[in-house]
Amino acid sequence: MEYLFNGVKEFNAKDFHEHKELFENLSKKQTPHTLFIGCSDSRIVPNLITKTLPGDLFVIRNIANLVPFYRESDDFLATTSAIEFAVKALNVENILICGHSNCGGCNALFFDEEQLKNIPHTSKWLQLAKSVKDKINLEPNIHNEPAKREWMTEQLNIIEQMNHLFSYPYIKEKYAKKELNILGWYYIIETGEIFNYNIDEQRFIKIE
Ligand SMILES: [Zn+2]
Repeated sequence: MEYLFNGVKEFNAKDFHEHKELFENLSKKQTPHTLFIGCSDSRIVPNLITKTLPGDLFVIRNIANLVPFYRESDDFLATTSAIEFAVKALNVENILICGHSNCGGCNALFFDEEQLKNIPHTSKWLQLAKSVKDKINLEPNIHNEPAKREWMTEQLNIIEQMNHLFSYPYIKEKYAKKELNILGWYYIIETGEIFNYNIDEQRFIKIE
């Protein structure tokens, strides 16, 4: 664990100084432009892939970048309260759902009972993506094509979570007034490519 302490020392000696003025400006308040909802996966680094700085992104990370339906229950408050705070208190301009390739959470949707027994909390959390699983299960022969199932699940999951956002009355209202953008991105880890979901065309289009 020594590398964690060394990292802090290096941050203080180097990076902090490079952005000293920025940190001073941020000391009293934050005005992030974007709520970034991403997977907890260690390979997703929100500020790196968006070339943003401290203060730019308000971030929610959870297994498989899921958004609970509006007030479906009083569970899952860590995610729903952060959405509420970002939109109603911080007035972010964008909500970005960022899914990714090789997502362990999306893959776990298809675990069997025995595998799920070891991860009961994850299993409960993943119920939020039940509609994704149900839709994928309707695809003929999909379980014989693991690679196809993987990317289809990951992409469909992004679209489903965007839909869940629209179940929040205050998000729907701001979106209708064009005060809020809703974005869905699919990030490919090994190529660095990001595909943006075009709501009108209903397809992912590479950002370039
Ligand atoms: Zn993931």
